[in-house]
Amino acid sequence: MIISVLSGKGGTGKTTVATNLACSGPKTAYIDCDVEEPNGFLFLNPAIEHREKVNVMVPGIDKDSCLACGMCSKWCQFHALAQVKNNLLSFLQLCHGCGLCTLVCPEKAITEVPREIGVIERGKFNNNVFIHGVLKTGEPIAVPVIDRIIEEIWKITADVVIIDCPPGTSCSVIAAVEKSDFCLLVTEPTPFGLHDLKIAVNLIRTLDIPAGVVVNKADDSTRIIRGYCEAEGIPILMELPFSKRVAQIYSTGKLLIQEDMLLKQQFQDLMAKLEGVIS
Ligand code: SF4
Ligand code: SF4
Repeated sequence: MIISVLSGKGGTGKTTVATNLACSGPKTAYIDCDVEEPNGFLFLNPAIEHREKVNVMVPGIDKDSCLACGMCSKWCQFHALAQVKNNLLSFLQLCHGCGLCTLVCPEKAITEVPREIGVIERGKFNNNVFIHGVLKTGEPIAVPVIDRIIEEIWKITADVVIIDCPPGTSCSVIAAVEKSDFCLLVTEPTPFGLHDLKIAVNLIRTLDIPAGVVVNKADDSTRIIRGYCEAEGIPILMELPFSKRVAQIYSTGKLLIQEDMLLKQQFQDLMAKLEGVIS
């Protein structure tokens, strides 16, 4: 069972929910696909056992063979190549590794060469599988790192795989969630939270993945989320209270379930509900 935890916007408590949930079942795996800023490891303290570079294949141009015909730059949809007078310029951070330039070059002046854009690390927390990806600083395209992490999921033996997704609703999020059995949408009871929740709901409906909502920082304003979810037929599976106690535990880098028995019970109930909804 693969459960993706996502939110329409950053800062809603997505990683708080994902890490605490990952410690609320007997045999879970925690997969951090928020590769631009992975921080689940801060709460789970995994022992890293394996590290692997993630490369994308980009054009390597043999300047001696290149006749500056402009064919490759004409066909590159991502503007990673540009013909300026008799010079071929490359902007490899924009390259999506499609390989088309290699195919269209009449002089066979292009070969594909690897370029490192990040790493994935695999290890253990509480005897459970931990995997996260780290995109190199300044790299604009996260999807190849996320795709590489998702490939690893099929090798895992776990009852529940929790994917901590990137924030927002971009192509990085789609790459992280598209193989999921269920999406947990984390939101907060503010007009911004509701606005971005609606965008996230549209995304997972397009992907045809069932979903439920977790309201973080729940207070009287939660009625705006409840009203929307009721109208849309989306279950609210948990409400985490807006409390100083939660903020204090979070600020020490500890899991809520380690420090507060009521919160521990809430997460165990959430896990049981998810198992019930998905099975
Ligand atoms: S591999 Fe594709 S994206 Fe990259 S430079 Fe060549 S045509 Fe452009
Ligand atoms: S298609 Fe080949 S020969 Fe033409 S500009 Fe590109 S690398 Fe040079």
